Amino acid sequence: MDNYRIETRCVQSGYTPKNGEPRQIPIIQSTTFKYETGEAMGRLFDLEAAGYFYSRLQNPTCDSVAAKIAALEGGSAAMLTSSGQAANFFAVFNIATAGDHVVSSSAIYGGTYNLFAVTMKKMGVSFTFVSPTASEEELEAAFRPNTKAVFGETIANPALAVLDIERFAQAAHRHGVPLIIDNTFPTPVNCRPIEWGADIVTHSTTKYMDGHGSAVGGAVVDSGRFDWTAHADRFPGLCTPDESYHGITYTERFGLEGAFITKATAQLMRDFGCTPAPVSAYLLNLGLESLHVRMARHCENGMAVARHLEANPKVTWVNYPSLPSSPYYPLVRKYLPNGSCGVVSFGVRGGRSSAQKFMSALRLAAIETHVADARTCCLHPASTTHRQMSDEELAAAGVPGDLVRFSCGLESADDLIEDIDNALSQVE
Ligand code: PLP
Repeated sequence: MDNYRIETRCVQSGYTPKNGEPRQIPIIQSTTFKYETGEAMGRLFDLEAAGYFYSRLQNPTCDSVAAKIAALEGGSAAMLTSSGQAANFFAVFNIATAGDHVVSSSAIYGGTYNLFAVTMKKMGVSFTFVSPTASEEELEAAFRPNTKAVFGETIANPALAVLDIERFAQAAHRHGVPLIIDNTFPTPVNCRPIEWGADIVTHSTTKYMDGHGSAVGGAVVDSGRFDWTAHADRFPGLCTPDESYHGITYTERFGLEGAFITKATAQLMRDFGCTPAPVSAYLLNLGLESLHVRMARHCENGMAVARHLEANPKVTWVNYPSLPSSPYYPLVRKYLPNGSCGVVSFGVRGGRSSAQKFMSALRLAAIETHVADARTCCLHPASTTHRQMSDEELAAAGVPGDLVRFSCGLESADDLIEDIDNALSQVE
């Protein structure tokens, strides 16, 4: 199935029923699994045999959906998590622990910034944030001897900065560390970062992948291409025996294709338990089945709204990566030729208060922290999701105080435009 085109993989990868089995992915809503002997179960605990023993670590429904996401991204293995936050935490903490350092793009989701700059800092992991448009020299200067990874978002939420994935991958690889890319906004339908050199891909599946606002979730995908053993001193967790699993060495036992995800499951999922409910994985799969159809429409509506906003005098600036006026347009042509996403950001004339007034006047677009959903929604990040950031941090992240994030859903573009025009007419 995984050799088919992306549209077919959206619909059918991950689960192939055998004769007489259910056509739809079964929801295995069971915390536990029965075995005939203690020895049989013991082999699972030692990772000597594949199978399920407790849904905190792995569950068949979740694994089928993870396999679909791995197929979509072109990865070797994947795992689902209970949220996008957990996915980014697992992806980084699987290789960077106390005393380690990570280089991250400064244009990232506010919650991820907080996870890195505040919570993981308390855990002893330090971060250097660099602009996604950093020069080669600035990027080089960010690395330290204890750097373990580079992190960025393909299209940053909400700054909509497009990352030069290939350039960041080359910098990471020059320093012998992997590039982790959060690919939430474009989804693998519009960009597959592994094809451009990324090593690990993460998702907040809560967004377009689910697409209907029904289940919070995340995913971590491993490309299987990063050679941990070539830098064994830097990645002891993957290349030396794990005493909490009877001394197995993940790279030896599971190869480059399986080591990263098996370690994240065996250690991080075991200890942190950020596992999704099987029914949430089932709902996510329903979203994935139409992802390729929906993304095209989200992008079409995004473009129509962005073009319309550009022509409105009450709008001071429009940021939509697929607009030729976007500074990221050259990168869009390279990485996102079929479309970027449905999210448009813009400034309302009059600044912060006008932006808030505009949003209150909308009828169709709802004010939500959510984004990337079938129903159009909008947000003023400076007063909500990014309120923990200082003005300097907001500027560095590309989220000025007048920014409205407008997430185009699947409604008629004409209706969305009428809603916007009506709301703008009520702003001074
Ligand atoms: N990454 C990106 C790009 C996001 O936009 C978000 C949430 O908006 C997250 C990660 C966190 O995901 P979740 O809300 O599913 O925990």
